[in-house]
Amino acid sequence: PQQKPPKQYLTEQEAIAASELFDLFCVATTMRQILGLHRDMCDILGLRPAPINEFYPMLKAKIRSWKAQALWKKFDARAAHRVYAKGTACNGTHVLVIGAGPCGLRTAIEAQLLGAKVVVLEKRDRITRNNVLHLWPFVITDLRNLGAKKFYGKFCAGSIDHISIRQLQIILMKVALLLGVEIHENVSFERTIEPSGDGFGWRAAVTPADHVVSYYEFDVLIGADGKRNTLEGFKRKEFRGKLAIAITANFINKKTEAEAKAEEISGVAFIFNQSFFKELYEKTGIDLENIVYYKDETHYFVMTAKKHSLIDKGVILQDFSDPAELLASANVSAEKLLDYAREAAEFSTKYQMPNLEFAVNHYGKPDVAMFDFTSMFAAETSCRVMLRHGHRLLQCLVGDSLLEPFWPTGSGCARGFLSSMDAAYATKLWSNPRNSIMGVVAQRESIYRLLNQTTPENLQRDTGSYTVDPASRYPNLNRTAVSPYQVKTLIDSDDPK
Ligand code: FAD
Repeated sequence: PQQKPPKQYLTEQEAIAASELFDLFCVATTMRQILGLHRDMCDILGLRPAPINEFYPMLKAKIRSWKAQALWKKFDARAAHRVYAKGTACNGTHVLVIGAGPCGLRTAIEAQLLGAKVVVLEKRDRITRNNVLHLWPFVITDLRNLGAKKFYGKFCAGSIDHISIRQLQIILMKVALLLGVEIHENVSFERTIEPSGDGFGWRAAVTPADHVVSYYEFDVLIGADGKRNTLEGFKRKEFRGKLAIAITANFINKKTEAEAKAEEISGVAFIFNQSFFKELYEKTGIDLENIVYYKDETHYFVMTAKKHSLIDKGVILQDFSDPAELLASANVSAEKLLDYAREAAEFSTKYQMPNLEFAVNHYGKPDVAMFDFTSMFAAETSCRVMLRHGHRLLQCLVGDSLLEPFWPTGSGCARGFLSSMDAAYATKLWSNPRNSIMGVVAQRESIYRLLNQTTPENLQRDTGSYTVDPASRYPNLNRTAVSPYQVKTLIDSDDPK
């Protein structure tokens, strides 16, 4: 639909209502509230999601409360970086992001700051993941600079370096919306629709099929839909290790004095603390390789359990060599799994929290789950290009779609954010008509080679200077490790030239 120009003047009542909606938006905690309040606020202001320069300055001019000013200061500082060219680096580029997980949203924010039109699709209508992510120092700096504390006062207070996936999504969704990103909930991406020569460019088939977003034409597609990744054409490589069964469990944090005293465990690996695991086994029959405990909105535990102890304790009913059969729901006692997780949690917090009560998950059930990490997947390449009837499409994978993380080491979100910035950088290169397609792809693949070797220690030290430019994050960067000739197969064109 035609966009109405933003309102020049607001009545006093409208200005008050918009400010009130803004304040409610900042403290909203559900996806429905966040998106609804944002829509209502935009309606009053006569604004619609749009590239940054057509949205954010108008919003900033109209919402002038003290809280808003503090946030605009953060956004202005970020947007002023020269890498964004004042929000014009991706002028005219249209981006579609599949998935409003942390990495989809983080990519959307960077593409928006670069000046692209950005639309995000999310198949869910609720944000519910209690599990807690470990944050590398650069992620903490990054989120602080995006104003995380304005939305979540407790963000990384003191020495805390973790956050629930839910809270992270909430913060990023708010930042994205305030910069002008368009987000549609309850819409699933199904597949890309190729241009057929009738004038339309690249579009997406979605569910529900008649959703307005199915008319959106884009030239950059970001696959951020998690490890199940729906984008076709990307080959994956498998890393098979020894059997690794991870259990996650969340308990309600009632914030009692006893709970406050329980100490976090930021990663007790067996080799470093054999006596702890030996005692745990002797006392409870629970045999673990490691355990992590974070005190966050919930008490969150992630542990890697040995198969024999799961069988001995009746969690796994029958032994199978195939991990999928072993952990199939029919072969797992849900009740015994709860007992196992609770016992491990109680022991490792020295029985200081005697009345642990499970938090509930997306389905309203106790939030305990068991996952197999025996084989992990990574995409062989991080991007692909398709050309049909003169329409170009750059497809990039980010986050878990690109590189599946092993949760107990907590590297997922940090490497995911790096991949988001790398994809945004590729989008910037793509938007510059002077860059060759093969050059853009070769550079993206050169940078992808670094990702799975990254640690907090081997990245650039000055985390405050990180931008989409890979040189700001990776030391000793070689942008030409992969040559344009090597990426020929990543370009699928109907043009023989
Ligand atoms: P995700 O966070 O998986 O987000 C993908 C998003 O895409 C989701 O919101 C999903 O609903 C949406 N989506 C999927 N398909 C479609 C589609 N077709 N159309 C539109 N939207 C779609 N990491 C840890 O370190 N510790 C943990 O304990 C932990 N627990 C996890 C529990 C679960 C259930 C999941 C799924 C992941 C967990 N992770 C954990 C991984 C961690 O969440 C990710 O590393 C991190 O969130 C970055 O992921 P992402 O944004 O790439 O993908």
